[in-house]
Amino acid sequence: MDLLSLGIEVFKTLLLLLITGFLIWTGRGENGRKSGRKQIQIAFFLLTFAALLALTDEFDGLEQDLLNGGTATQLFIIKSLYSVGYLVLLLGLLKWIPPQNHVSEQLLPEANERTAALQKTQQFIRAVVQQSHDLVVACDIDGRIILSNDRNVAPLIGAKIGLTLQEWHALSPQYDGYQVSLLTLQQLPLYRALQGEVVTQQEVVLKNQGQNSLILLTRGCPIYDNTGKQQGAMISAYDITAQKQLEEQLTHQAQHDSLTGLANRFLFNDRLNQTALRIQRYDVQAAVIMLDLDKFKEVNDSLGHAAGDQLLEQVSQRMKAALRDSDTIARLGGDEFAIILELSEGTAKDDTQMVAGRLLEHISQPFLLNDQVVQIGASIGIACSLDSGGNADTLLRNADAALYQAKAEGRNRFYCYNTKRNQQAVPYVQSETVISHPLYLKEV
Ligand code: GH3
Ligand code: MG
Repeated sequence: MDLLSLGIEVFKTLLLLLITGFLIWTGRGENGRKSGRKQIQIAFFLLTFAALLALTDEFDGLEQDLLNGGTATQLFIIKSLYSVGYLVLLLGLLKWIPPQNHVSEQLLPEANERTAALQKTQQFIRAVVQQSHDLVVACDIDGRIILSNDRNVAPLIGAKIGLTLQEWHALSPQYDGYQVSLLTLQQLPLYRALQGEVVTQQEVVLKNQGQNSLILLTRGCPIYDNTGKQQGAMISAYDITAQKQLEEQLTHQAQHDSLTGLANRFLFNDRLNQTALRIQRYDVQAAVIMLDLDKFKEVNDSLGHAAGDQLLEQVSQRMKAALRDSDTIARLGGDEFAIILELSEGTAKDDTQMVAGRLLEHISQPFLLNDQVVQIGASIGIACSLDSGGNADTLLRNADAALYQAKAEGRNRFYCYNTKRNQQAVPYVQSETVISHPLYLKEV
């Protein structure tokens, strides 16, 4: 026996056994491979049998006992078995290796599933954005709007999907007659966010032709992907018009007198401090006028508190009419009013006295309170910055001292505080003008 040939045949058999065994094992379970597996099994038996026959060929004389034929017949059988075996193995292998379209067929349901899940997520995101009470607008890195909800103010500002920021900015003034007032494209929050800026909050005011304004509080930020590369930007905004109006109302209430609508003491002091600063820095001249109605209590006592209120309101109107819009006029409390006049240096004193005389003249005209005609007078004290300097407290104190003097001297007149005549510690005030007609409360 040729040991080498025997070894080769044994090795071939083992190799076949191993290969087919591996294929059968890995071919388990999958549709395409299952049918290939059967053919590989058949090939396995054919080839094993052929190998065994070839093995017997290696033992002298055994061929005659096992097979009733000559070596040529045996060789033919072995070769046929091998050929058929290899053919079947090849077929089995071809089936075992799944075709390409089989793979895609297998992946198709999974791909469909994933597409459906993706669409669902997209729909969900759109619904969330759509339902959001805030305005949400997002754009891609080229500045094209890719997401926008049309709730609340979105139709108004016209942030339509597909528009570029430039187109949006150019179009927005046409929507409902509103326009983004005083904002350039570069100042728009979405533009700023696209430049990589985080806009923590920006108020955008929209005004229409009727000058109604709509105020949006806007926040914006850039959008980055997983790698940190910017992919676009987004803004959210909500309407704070009502909130702003309320704030303005509260601020107005805190700074104004509820009965007359004039500035209150708080706002007056603030304005006086600002005026004092201007006097000190820019050489501006100003005067403080303090006005107190004469015998006002008598109106309350004789006609009632409500009539007194009416009179205070009407006096306020007349005082406003006697002054310029730029002058500050305040009700400090009760029947006491205060005025700040900013004046030019050369005519400061004359102008102040003219205004004081006009005020007394206006107030001295009869008032109509609940079908009753009432006349009343007022006393005025004036402090001019030319005499009193540019300190707010001093101006107020000197005007008050002048008013006190006007009251003490008989009411219905005005006094100017004059430091030049104030050689002693006690402030000296000089009567400049006295309105002649006796006023006081008078029923007609
Ligand atoms: P005088 O000539 O010295 O100024 O005396 P007067 O009667 O005007 O009294 P005075 O200025 O000292 O006080 C103002 C009075 O105004 C005190 C109060 O009874 C009344 N008063 C204060 N606030 C109000 C108000 O809101 N409405 C009304 N109707 N009266 C007020
Ligand atoms: Mg009074």
